[in-house]
Amino acid sequence: MADSVEIIYGDSNATLGQDGGGGDVTFEWGTPRRFDLVIGTDGQHSTVRRLVWGPETGFVTHRGIYVATLPVERELNPTTDVLLHGMPGRLASVHPVRGDGGIAALIWRGKPVPGYDHRDTAQHKNIVEQAYAGGGWIVPELVERVRDAEDLYFDTVSQVRLDTWSGGRIGLLGDATSSVSLFGEGSSLAMAGAHTLARTLAEHHDHPEQALQAYERAHRKLTAPKQNAFATAATLMVPATRLGVALRDNGARLVTGWQRLTARAS
Ligand SMILES: Cc1cc2nc3c(=O)[nH]c(=O)nc-3n(C[C@H](O)[C@H](O)[C@H](O)COP(=O)(O)OP(=O)(O)OC[C@H]3O[C@@H](n4cnc5c(N)ncnc54)[C@H](O)[C@@H]3O)c2cc1C
Repeated sequence: MADSVEIIYGDSNATLGQDGGGGDVTFEWGTPRRFDLVIGTDGQHSTVRRLVWGPETGFVTHRGIYVATLPVERELNPTTDVLLHGMPGRLASVHPVRGDGGIAALIWRGKPVPGYDHRDTAQHKNIVEQAYAGGGWIVPELVERVRDAEDLYFDTVSQVRLDTWSGGRIGLLGDATSSVSLFGEGSSLAMAGAHTLARTLAEHHDHPEQALQAYERAHRKLTAPKQNAFATAATLMVPATRLGVALRDNGARLVTGWQRLTARAS
């Protein structure tokens, strides 16, 4: 096992091929290479998946929610708490982070946008502006920050489901193969998946195809329940109605009140 890793920046795989002995990769810029194993860990909009499994429309399901995040000034939330403002079908929040700034997150329910392009930032800014029009609290300030943002994260909240996570010596890991959406601890699951794959590769050292299948069998047991819990998580995070927001907020107050009480008593 090598004790260092080569990282290539500013390039992407362009084509993928394989035979029984390895995977062949061509790059947009670099010279073609051959690897024992090719693992796509390139996220929800995976290129590896597209090249081997086909266009993402077949595997990526938009769950009717959008998310945008951006860095904001500390003054918008000088506390150490996450501040949330719930409106029916819309959530605005500002999270404190270490250092000077904070992170604002906007999460809302919305129909598919015709012509949506996950790389078109100008379009994303318009979508946010329309979705949060008339919002209270500091929503107008947040929308203004979105308009001027140079570092806006925006995407649909989507899940990825594939019948098989590998074919021969090419496999997928993390959001590329099993995105659980925003509400399912996707980073933790991606790392757990990588750990499982490392273990199965060690166990099936001479048979990487079998290692990929063993990893999938084991790791699906973690991702499937999280994907199935989407509706409950989404209802709690972005209730669709005024009543839903009131129930969620009062429920949260009861739980935190109870926790404070029991902490004081112990
Ligand atoms: C707002 C938000 C909050 C979240 N909060 C949490 C949380 O609190 N806890 C949690 O566990 N999860 C959270 N998640 C989910 C988590 O971010 C993802 O599940 C996780 O990042 C998936 O990791 P990944 O490595 O599979 O994909 P990604 O993190 O998407 O990484 C994929 C990488 O591949 C690169 N890439 C893409 N295409 C190519 C290409 N062609 N060539 C080379 N590189 C390429 C991308 O630039 C990117 O760096 C959150 C997600 C969002 C959107």
